[in-house]
Amino acid sequence: MTVDLDVSCFTIPTDAPESDGTLAWDSTTIVIVEARCGSVHGLGWTYAADAAASIVSDKLADVVRDRDPDDVAATWLECGRQLRNLGRPGIAWCALSAVDIALWDLRARMHDVALVTLLPPAQKRVPIYGSGGFCSYSLERLREQLGGWVAEGIPRVKMKLGREPENDPKRLDAAREAIGDAELYVDANGAFTAKDAIRWAHEYVQNWNVRWFEEPVSSADFAGLRLVREHSLLDVAAGEYAYVPADFRNLLGCVDCLQADITRCGGITGLLRVNGLAAAYGIDISGHCAPQLSAHALCGVDRLRHLEYFHDHTRIESMLFDGVLAPDGGALVPDRSRAGHGLELKRAEAQRWAA
Ligand SMILES: [Mg+2]
Repeated sequence: MTVDLDVSCFTIPTDAPESDGTLAWDSTTIVIVEARCGSVHGLGWTYAADAAASIVSDKLADVVRDRDPDDVAATWLECGRQLRNLGRPGIAWCALSAVDIALWDLRARMHDVALVTLLPPAQKRVPIYGSGGFCSYSLERLREQLGGWVAEGIPRVKMKLGREPENDPKRLDAAREAIGDAELYVDANGAFTAKDAIRWAHEYVQNWNVRWFEEPVSSADFAGLRLVREHSLLDVAAGEYAYVPADFRNLLGCVDCLQADITRCGGITGLLRVNGLAAAYGIDISGHCAPQLSAHALCGVDRLRHLEYFHDHTRIESMLFDGVLAPDGGALVPDRSRAGHGLELKRAEAQRWAA
């Protein structure tokens, strides 16, 4: 029995121009990997440039082909070895992540069990927070989006800021007004210097009761993150650009919560390694993006805080896949009656976005 990988890319325009503290965009590319063994298939993806697809088809497909689908960890290690000269952190690890998730899904479907049961699960449900609040939004759209999540029963929301800091107080006023007592998080995507971030952090806490400050400075600035963490009362978070295990180790002591993106950190096998690190170090993990793909995987995390229910990905995942989970009391709850992660590509509909 051989395992064959098929890979496809789709680029989907955003529903409006979007920006954060340091970047603006108008589309999102998703690279989808399907792993086939006999009549069974597994599905994984990553949000990355379509170059990740070449790494899957030119490099990883050969590694996976003759391996036992149950040997996911051994396959993961060999894929990592084969990526050495391509540069592991970054796009190559996104490619590996999509392959690993497809293989976990394939394995669960071959055993006819829900993916979550293989992990093994430490959680039954994954609390989510609504995430969007782009700098490009009008105050009206900001209120509508953040208030909409709270009305849906999601008691935590996050907005972007730091692009034009002088405009942020009125945006924070609008957000707080729209969400009442719900938890308010902010993400600067690395827009500030450490000293500016500390000054802003005090304002955020005092005036808007903000609980979470994500990437106040660049997540490559470990000393800066540590300084902000030590001089502010809110939780400092980072990790969305952590790929290999050492990237997470480097953030220990610099943040109050590690963010892990299963479409970047080496898929489920990579996430389980981050879980071991976080459990040993006594720090929480929050899932970054790709909410539908993360729901099963994050049930395997001991110290799970929550998962980012990101506007762009929530929209794309409901456009491209059948079997998406709807929020239930502010959480995603894996459906254990379906094999694998329970998601299926809507192939005909996806074709209109083919790269
Ligand atoms: Mg972020």
